[in-house]
Amino acid sequence: NRRFTLASRPKGEPDENTLKLENADIPVPASNQMLLRNQYLSLDPYMRGRMSDAPSYAAPVEIGEVMVGGTVSKVEKSNIEGFSEGDWVVAFGGWQDYALSDGTGVINMGKNPQNPSWALGVLGMPGLTAWAGLTEIGQPKEGETLVVAGASGPVGATVGQIAKILGLRVVGIAGGAEKCQHVIDTLGFDACVDYKSLSFAEDLKAAVPSGIDIYFENVGGEVFDAVLPLLNTSARVPLCGLISQYNATSLPDGPDRMNYLMGQLLRKRITMRGFIVFDDFGHLYPAFAKQMTEWVKSGKIKYREEMIDGLEHAPSAFIGLLRGEAFGKRVIKLNP
Ligand code: NDP
Repeated sequence: NRRFTLASRPKGEPDENTLKLENADIPVPASNQMLLRNQYLSLDPYMRGRMSDAPSYAAPVEIGEVMVGGTVSKVEKSNIEGFSEGDWVVAFGGWQDYALSDGTGVINMGKNPQNPSWALGVLGMPGLTAWAGLTEIGQPKEGETLVVAGASGPVGATVGQIAKILGLRVVGIAGGAEKCQHVIDTLGFDACVDYKSLSFAEDLKAAVPSGIDIYFENVGGEVFDAVLPLLNTSARVPLCGLISQYNATSLPDGPDRMNYLMGQLLRKRITMRGFIVFDDFGHLYPAFAKQMTEWVKSGKIKYREEMIDGLEHAPSAFIGLLRGEAFGKRVIKLNP
């Protein structure tokens, strides 16, 4: 059983000393457990938070513990009712070949699911994040303008496509020409602005002639600086993630802009609300899964996945994800 444990807490960007590859015995399930063989490991930005012991909504991974992660796994041996050998499941199997589970929070996909790894993306946690954050907090209305950053990533791509289905004008923000082209041509956004361009703030302004009614926040930092003055009265800001800050070790230099932000929120009566997907919207999963499965099957929602072969590549693939090197949902394929 190869597995990655947390070896040290990163200061800034994680590096080759953050995680350690170990070999352990294949665990034996107790009478209330099953043994899972992990097939696909999801790489997600929140994992950076689990490497840190700063206060957060979830407990950190302890030094020496297996790194946490969502997996699509196959049941090897089950002592639990409702799960049998050969079932495909969505679980929190972690960065390892095998995992034990008592079935809590595990979804059974049966013996022969189509595209099982998609349950880690558009049909799973990132998809639910997009759908629930947009509909519950964003309160989208036909004809409004929505802006979403991280537009080619699993959450952002899904937010924008749902908003298009609902009749909004949708503008993405992404890093580089290739990703922006994909966001417009394949995902069907009305426009996409490259945040790495020197003229980013002006380009964004030009792309939203009627201002911004919903800003779905995935990145924070300089992107939010450019968005804030463009928000309309009564704008809604689902605060989903701040990936530009996850490796930061201190607050940015420069003038204190807190009063500017507060003034904007007050005068424009802006609603900004943070959320943690399963804590706040886990109960919406069944409704989401039904709707999203239909949209994906009918081709209304497109999904791009970046599959990387081999557990040994997970740390470098994760470091790259935080740097913006992923193009679509990054998943590790575990080779038996
Ligand atoms: P993504 O694949 O979108 O995240 C990686 C992308 O983030 C990169 O490709 C890059 O975009 C962008 N990025 C990284 N650094 C910067 C930066 N400095 N400035 C601007 N963009 C940057 O991941 P997900 O779709 O999985 O998640 C999107 C966000 O949603 C994350 O912040 C995540 O933490 C959050 N999230 C929150 C949840 C919740 O419950 N609140 C649940 C799930 C996700 P590009 O390639 O265009 O450069």
